[in-house]
Amino acid sequence: MIKNQRVVAVEEHFTTAAYLEVAHGLSVWPDDKTEMTFMRGLENDAALRTKLVDFEKRLQEMDLNGTDMAVLSLNPPGVQPYETESAVPLARDFNDQLAEVIKRWPTRFAGLGTVAPQDPKQAALEIERIMGPLGLGGVMIYSHTFGRYLDEPDFELLLEAAESHNAPIYLHPRAPSPQMLAPYQKYGMVAALWGYQAEAGTHAMRLILSGAFDRHPNLKVILGHLGEGLPFWTTRLDNRYAFTYRAAGQALGMVKLELTPSEYLRRNFAVTTSGMHDPEALAFCINRLGEDNVMFAIDHPYEDSTAATAFLQDADLTETQRAKISHINAERLFHISR
Ligand code: MN
Repeated sequence: MIKNQRVVAVEEHFTTAAYLEVAHGLSVWPDDKTEMTFMRGLENDAALRTKLVDFEKRLQEMDLNGTDMAVLSLNPPGVQPYETESAVPLARDFNDQLAEVIKRWPTRFAGLGTVAPQDPKQAALEIERIMGPLGLGGVMIYSHTFGRYLDEPDFELLLEAAESHNAPIYLHPRAPSPQMLAPYQKYGMVAALWGYQAEAGTHAMRLILSGAFDRHPNLKVILGHLGEGLPFWTTRLDNRYAFTYRAAGQALGMVKLELTPSEYLRRNFAVTTSGMHDPEALAFCINRLGEDNVMFAIDHPYEDSTAATAFLQDADLTETQRAKISHINAERLFHISR
């Protein structure tokens, strides 16, 4: 329980019975089968399903641990394992349902919409709707789609729409793409134990190194789990980018960047505390990225909300830092007005 502090938690997953009924009836991209068997198993687990779909219970839990507002998002990996013609309307229906939830509890919930990157043009149009009539705060994208990454030219439309509509992209992890999955198949590494951060961290690096933030200087990307390892790497990223570019940039097809990798991390990224209740890691991220670029998240229903809020309460922060991390940064980045 956290006291005397407004708390906005920003990686809080939900779904609806109506969504699951449609989604679970769809066949998934063959390479996503293992991951989707696992995720559907979670969604069919009685206790987890209740946590995902029951808003009265969620509000009780939020009251108990002192969370004023949850920024809701679809359970991973969104609509991305489904064929385009199913994924596009599924995303649209989900966003309508999310907007209804927020309309019903406007002081308790905000939301990140879902898009189907499978169809970048439709995704761009949906971002316009998400940030316009639906009044949501941004989009969540669950890393790769059919093994493809957002730095690829086909997705320029999507990045353009996100930048021009001020839609931060919360780049949420999922299991590694088929191109890099094999070594993660053993010892339970495929999901949150290690594979998720390898996948999401790689995706973020591809965006940086592709020059996406030179093309879209105002694009904002949010990473969970205190930045999926990237903040720890900042000095090495900068000196190895410079070294590799000098040594073999042309041969390796590298892009000449306007800034150093760590400068993009500070300018175009923000990170959240989801699942990382580690005071030293938090202090490190604040030092590396700045106190305006760190936000509180629980990762409901996969992390314990009592532990998460106790971590925020006990962290060694100035009062200004605690206020920024607990709500001010989220309100600014996700356009939440009180
Ligand atoms: Mn999550």
